[in-house]
Amino acid sequence: MDDCLFCKFVSGQIAPDIAYQDEQVLAFRDINPQAPTHVLIVPKTHTRDASTVEAADGPMLAAILNAARAIAEQDGLAGGYRLVANVGPDAGQSVFHLHVHMLGGRSLAWPPG
Ligand code: 5GP
Ligand code: ZN
Repeated sequence: MDDCLFCKFVSGQIAPDIAYQDEQVLAFRDINPQAPTHVLIVPKTHTRDASTVEAADGPMLAAILNAARAIAEQDGLAGGYRLVANVGPDAGQSVFHLHVHMLGGRSLAWPPG
């Protein structure tokens, strides 16, 4: 997608602060972090959001969770972390390339706002 910011990160046209990558996913630090660790994990293939994921995307979803585990080890998140995917306007989604927020490094309140 030519006009997609996260596709530009994946292609290397724009260089984010990369935390982890493998064949299927790229993970980079959020520009406006809400916790000491705030990483966005995205598939390297464009898909709009969690509602456009299909059964065949199972390996990509597993790669997202695997990336989170690797980043938790890297960042020393032994106490845990939170994974969040915003879908649509009510959830405040602002970038329309599937991304899972990974938040950690502090105590996180529940329920979220
Ligand atoms: P959403 O609101 O769609 O769930 O999350 C989008 C996230 O992308 C936000 O947390 C926002 O800070 C982050 N973001 C927006 N533009 C950029 C950017 O240019 N670089 C990085 N690293 N993160 C960005
Ligand atoms: Zn994209």
